Amino acid sequence: MPESFVQPPIAQAYWLRHAHVPAGLLREPLPGTANREGLCAVDLKIVSGKIAAIVASSPVSDPELANVDLRGGMVWPCLIDMHTHLDKGHVWPRTPNPDGTFPTALKVIQQDAAAHWQPEELYRRMEFGLKCSYAHGTQAIRTHIDAAGKLAEMSLEVFQELQAQWADRLALQAVCLVPVAYFLTPAGEALADRMATIKGGVLGGLAFMNPELDAQLDRVYALAQERGLDLDFHVDESGNPDDRALFKVAEATLRHQFARQVVADHGCTLSLQDAITVQETVARLAEAKVGVISLPLCNLYLQDRSPQRTPRWRGVTALQELQQAGVDTVIASDNCRDPFHAFGDHDMLEVFALSTRIAHLDSDYATAPQTVTQTPARLMGLPEMGKLELGANADLILFRGRNFSELLSRSQFDRVVLRQGKAIVRTLPDYAELDDLFAAPAG
Ligand SMILES: [Zn+2]
Repeated sequence: MPESFVQPPIAQAYWLRHAHVPAGLLREPLPGTANREGLCAVDLKIVSGKIAAIVASSPVSDPELANVDLRGGMVWPCLIDMHTHLDKGHVWPRTPNPDGTFPTALKVIQQDAAAHWQPEELYRRMEFGLKCSYAHGTQAIRTHIDAAGKLAEMSLEVFQELQAQWADRLALQAVCLVPVAYFLTPAGEALADRMATIKGGVLGGLAFMNPELDAQLDRVYALAQERGLDLDFHVDESGNPDDRALFKVAEATLRHQFARQVVADHGCTLSLQDAITVQETVARLAEAKVGVISLPLCNLYLQDRSPQRTPRWRGVTALQELQQAGVDTVIASDNCRDPFHAFGDHDMLEVFALSTRIAHLDSDYATAPQTVTQTPARLMGLPEMGKLELGANADLILFRGRNFSELLSRSQFDRVVLRQGKAIVRTLPDYAELDDLFAAPAG
């Protein structure tokens, strides 16, 4: 690992001097004028692990305290990854996706689960993902957990063990993943009961288009309402413009006057629909205050893929239109090294950097950083995270990159991650840690 570009002191109080911070992550009034890219030049005082001052950068050092000169490098709050599938992660060595398509991914992951998933095996793969996330500077993660039939019992228990083990480093939330029709069965009701027993548990499912979708959604909303749970749906992850579950979710939220937070994920087909349809869906999402989570890397991999043919579209939802209408938008990582996405290292900066290219987030740097920090933190009910505020924990990432071009052009592998003001060890887990899970069985 390359050496960190600065060495913060092991001191109870110190200054981080000459930082650039995204103005959108600061409280008004700003400590100085934001530049063309919406960055403010500031000094941050860290005392007892918290942010004690944010002031306009001064050329004069504080003679009483250690002063770390960041030479204009960016400082961000630790990142939030609001949509992952930790239970599927890192199975690629034993279960690749031979044709890279969505239907094949679905088929082979089910085979993998039936043949291999065991509590210890699952724990190790899921923890591998957590180790990567933590080392790269993430502080909160929501994961979907495949929960049909017997998987629920095993996987949710493993999740809760990890949640307890990692509580001092990562805020973890779980969402159950089943087709929404499942909630019309007694097993579905039991699953809703189970989610209500999990700290930060969220009710969720795959909302496939079908003639009964409204009735299925009505059932899920009723179960969530009775138990006081937030909702999180997979919708419209396809290339079929007739898929409009995003609209159905917005309608259901309004129909039920659902007061808790609802988010809908993927929404790929919104980019393939005509302008009037897009406008109708976007307006309804805004009215219902449904947040939308885009997963650009996974959808770039899966969408518009067929053998021997070059893909023509990017698979992302209509992010810019959603943002302009005031819909909360989030970028997250989704699958890592499994049949749904062959790549990924749980690095939210990489996800942000690639999403910036894929979805042209560079057209508005004043709001782009919020998609991986403040907005997901708020939608996850963690409003103290994802922003730079007096009194907040100094959970920060110090980057060498001084502006967006520098930040997003190199990997920033030499970044420094502070948790409560102290630099963490950023060693990534070795892939070899999981090798024995993929060894061919004897005989
Ligand atoms: Zn997903």
